[in-house]
Amino acid sequence: MTNEIVAATGNRHKIAEIQAILAPLGLRVLGANEVGGMPDVLEDGETFRDNAVKKALGCAQALGRTVLADDSGLEVFALNGAPGVHSARYAGEGGNDGRNLSKLLREMTDIVDRRARFVAVIAVATPEGLIGTAEGEVRGVITTAPRGQGGFGYDPVFVPEGETETFAELPAAVKNTMSHRGNALKAAVAAGLFG
Ligand code: IMP
Repeated sequence: MTNEIVAATGNRHKIAEIQAILAPLGLRVLGANEVGGMPDVLEDGETFRDNAVKKALGCAQALGRTVLADDSGLEVFALNGAPGVHSARYAGEGGNDGRNLSKLLREMTDIVDRRARFVAVIAVATPEGLIGTAEGEVRGVITTAPRGQGGFGYDPVFVPEGETETFAELPAAVKNTMSHRGNALKAAVAAGLFG
């Protein structure tokens, strides 16, 4: 198994979750700030997989190292899958979690069916090319107001199936056992993407 891998993201929350999930497997995950030289990859794909592959390949080639990329987002059933691949910039460019979350609650004011899912696609690449991808999801419902201080993004409004607390109220270790990112990383390990 590769024992060191670069995460192609500057999102410190994503890095912390990926590190916590992969550390028990002896895999050390380095963040963008630890390696430097991470290129800016335009996330213009139509699917989470397109964007994850693009980020993994672009970064692996630029850095000359094995890279893992995570592309993820929230899909609300009653909004036909929005915000989806646009989750990070739902309220406009600049990626502001608070504004994205307020916009989502506004759009859902009169919506009774509050089912949603988080999706993550993990892509692993070396400078020679793509090793593969793996997907994970977690289903749940959207609350009517934000709750909790933990996590990031849409965590304060997402209650996973079988729980009563939001991802921002649940301890990080609990989120990691059931999250889309946790499930995608488990699938990536099972598929042998880390060697
Ligand atoms: P990406 O960098 O394009 O993959 O952006 C993912 C966006 O989806 C983030 O900015 C968040 O808004 C949302 N997102 C992805 N994963 C999570 C999560 O675990 N919790 C909350 N929001 C998430």
